[in-house]
Amino acid sequence: MIGEGSHHARIMFIGEAPGKNEAETGRPFCGAAGKVLDKLLESISLDRKEVYVTNIVKDRPTSNRDPLPEEIKLYAPFLDRQIDIIQPKVIATLGRFSMDYIMRKFGLEKDLQSISNIHGNVFEAEANYGSIKIVPLYHPAVALYNGGEMETLKKDFAVLKEYK
Ligand code: URA
Repeated sequence: MIGEGSHHARIMFIGEAPGKNEAETGRPFCGAAGKVLDKLLESISLDRKEVYVTNIVKDRPTSNRDPLPEEIKLYAPFLDRQIDIIQPKVIATLGRFSMDYIMRKFGLEKDLQSISNIHGNVFEAEANYGSIKIVPLYHPAVALYNGGEMETLKKDFAVLKEYK
């Protein structure tokens, strides 16, 4: 599973790894977590076709376990290349694994904290193609386990409105 969306996207969303549905179809976020992502995009009137959606790990970890550090290391060059090609102005990470990788990649390790402290914050960084913003967001799947988190996610997504 590589990714999906506009190659001219201003906003790139980076999740964790394909689940069962994603592995079967080759499309990112097409299962239950994808439905939540669709709702969140809709809440800021952003069409999924206008953004680019991918994952840090490109193959499904067995039984939906967390990605291993060596899997992240293995797939990171593919994600790096996707960023270089699409050149998004905003990278919105979904969940702590892509947050950790992207913030370190762009020299923001000093700002790294637990996702519960920094979700919805906007960090400035320099990519090799210009200035970008990095916005760590909770993974949409949290709303599947805890309905109350949908409101937090919606509030955080609202910060993306000005970068559409
Ligand atoms: N969870 C993810 O992190 N990515 C997907 O593509 C689907 C579910």
